[in-house]
Amino acid sequence: MKGMAGLELEEIEKEMAAAFKYVLTAEDYKNALLENKLMGLKCDDCGAITCPPMAVCQKCGSKNLKSIELSGKGEIMTFTTITVPPQGFEGPYICCLVKTVEGPWVPGRLNYGVDEAQNDGMSLVGRKVVLEKGVAIPGDDFTVGEHVFPLFKLE
Ligand SMILES: [Zn+2]
Repeated sequence: MKGMAGLELEEIEKEMAAAFKYVLTAEDYKNALLENKLMGLKCDDCGAITCPPMAVCQKCGSKNLKSIELSGKGEIMTFTTITVPPQGFEGPYICCLVKTVEGPWVPGRLNYGVDEAQNDGMSLVGRKVVLEKGVAIPGDDFTVGEHVFPLFKLE
């Protein structure tokens, strides 16, 4: 079957693999999380850290990246409590966006009581957190399989 520009799909895949060498794949990131490690990419050109992993530096677009382990520490930038979870998820739980000390903002969950979070409200924003562990949940009818996310706890 011919794809873009009259190329066979195999040829396109070869060109894509040559153009984008993934230093840290989504699978690598997930497996590290399950070992309670938060991995990211450090740019050799500008020094910025990218997390979750991408094919290029989040700041300058460079492909000169190396895989590094982040501290897992950061602060809550925002959060929300999910009381009516989507299919395949068990609620209630708290989704949060954590600004890591290395710079990138990483989505995850917060290991904290939902009632407490609702009582504490905006005072949770800015609180220091640390990665507790990576958590895997099975896929559902709308996903391609297992989903792994970072679970943070208050420091
Ligand atoms: Zn860069």
